[in-house]
Amino acid sequence: MTTFEALGIDARLIQATDELGYVNPTAIQEQAIPVLLSGTQDFIGLAQTGTGKTAAFGLPLLHIIDAAAKYPQALVVCPTRELCLQIVKEIELFKKYMTGVSVVAVYGGASIGLQIRDLKRGVQIVVATPGRLIDLIERKAINLEQIKYVVLDEADEMLNMGFQDDIEFILKNTPARESTWLFSATMPPEIRKVSKKYMKDPKEVTVGKVNTANKSIDHQYYVTTAQHRYETLKRIIDFNPGIYGIIFTRTKLDAQEISERLTREGYDIDALHGDLTQQQRDKVMGQFRDKSLQLLIATDVAARGIDVVGITHVINYELPDDVEIYTHRSGRTGRAGNQGICVSIVHAKEMYKFKQIERINNSQFHKMDIPSGKDVCRKQFFHFMDKLLSTDISNSEYETYVPMLAEKFADISKEEVLKRIAAMEFDRFLKYYENSEDLNLRERSKRDSNDRSEPRRRDERSEGRGDRDRGDSRKEYTRGGGYSRLFVNLGTKDGFFKASFLQYILDMSDLKKEVLGKIDMKDMNSWIEIDKGAAQQMIRSLDGKNYKGRRIRMNDADSGGPAGFVKRPRRGE
Ligand code: AMP
Repeated sequence: MTTFEALGIDARLIQATDELGYVNPTAIQEQAIPVLLSGTQDFIGLAQTGTGKTAAFGLPLLHIIDAAAKYPQALVVCPTRELCLQIVKEIELFKKYMTGVSVVAVYGGASIGLQIRDLKRGVQIVVATPGRLIDLIERKAINLEQIKYVVLDEADEMLNMGFQDDIEFILKNTPARESTWLFSATMPPEIRKVSKKYMKDPKEVTVGKVNTANKSIDHQYYVTTAQHRYETLKRIIDFNPGIYGIIFTRTKLDAQEISERLTREGYDIDALHGDLTQQQRDKVMGQFRDKSLQLLIATDVAARGIDVVGITHVINYELPDDVEIYTHRSGRTGRAGNQGICVSIVHAKEMYKFKQIERINNSQFHKMDIPSGKDVCRKQFFHFMDKLLSTDISNSEYETYVPMLAEKFADISKEEVLKRIAAMEFDRFLKYYENSEDLNLRERSKRDSNDRSEPRRRDERSEGRGDRDRGDSRKEYTRGGGYSRLFVNLGTKDGFFKASFLQYILDMSDLKKEVLGKIDMKDMNSWIEIDKGAAQQMIRSLDGKNYKGRRIRMNDADSGGPAGFVKRPRRGE
């Protein structure tokens, strides 16, 4: 077993780790520290939390930075505010005997003004969450020109939380970077991609076992028709009385409408979307975090970076188009050793998408029956009984009421009292679900009813045709049907995936996705099929507006308008 001295760490750091009771380096420290002390070698450490990885990068960082130079030299990027604070706390302990070294934490949800002030004090190590860091870069409040070392801690979590673009932006904007140190508990393909693109011949070290898929998430799906989506959502919520979850929609309008409808119907829910001010957003998030709000409904963009412990369910009101987005969404549950469930409401025409997500996500997905009204009532009833039995009655105040209660209920039996309590509690469920219909989309053809052992086959086949069907209907549109084709100078290079693009154009125009046909996205431009009647509204809402400082150009692609290729400044140029 080796020692910190043998690894070549500065004596002042060893004195501090001694005091912390570190006798020997942990496995990740033993393998990482000698490599990282060179300062020039890219490194990938596959290690879980608790393996001592903070010291594995913290000690070499402190060893190699120049304490006399008062500007940021090292950047540690991590997914959450909690982790950010924890890393800074540990680094502070390690540097106890070093003078002239400063470390600062910058993260969202706290005063940016105070953080800017801290940065101005001449810090060498910045520990940041991606969103706040980008904010500081855009405000020119942080100088990354001389950052030599970038550490990506819990990289898989950051990608799960939707920070991929931000991480790439940060890596692109650290021109003096001499080495990148990436730590991650898992190695999903997205991390491989980032490492291939931004790292040079990284030394890779694995400590313990690396899992590829998050096994603490149970992926489930329900198949229904498009018009029963909302009812299905309600059934799922009602069938899980203790639910603490996030529902994802594609558009702001859906999030708003569903939230309002569910609130009217007595559910404990609020929406998170791009139209909220920071203050409103903080308020909703605060309520959700302290569990005074049971459900949150959000668009992908608005939910970026949400880190709430104990989420039991993530519900995809609709499936996202991109596998990455599915992964971001489902990653909100099953965290910190907890089990979670990711539910998708799928209609037959989405099955082909679903199969693709299932394959790439490398997890087994379970088809579930949408519970019947009776199932829901039974579940609610048992939940109610459990609640009744576990109610705390230790307060002696209740004793004083017992004689009064006994007198009042003298003429009715215990059974009747219980019945009355039950009726009071969940009459609304019984009434609501009295004549409820079966929401499951069931196969109807003779062939399928003979083939119960493989009930999904038919859906798969018909869905496998989904793309082609759309292709056929496109021919119909171009033959003079109800569609126009719009050109817009936004594309995948602007950081859009199909789903986020769809959400963006619908949010901007306040239109519903039903008006859209096929969307064809290229690097720099996209073409959108849209109901003729809605085309002008979309053009009016987008054409001439700004997207990340660039003017959007949108016009009818088939009316001879200029759909050319204009060189545009990109973010960071
Ligand atoms: P981390 O994986 O960085 O979250 O570290 C997990 C815990 O292990 C922290 O409480 C560290 O203080 C502790 N730790 C890190 N390195 C060592 C070591 N070499 N010996 C003993 N404890 C350590």
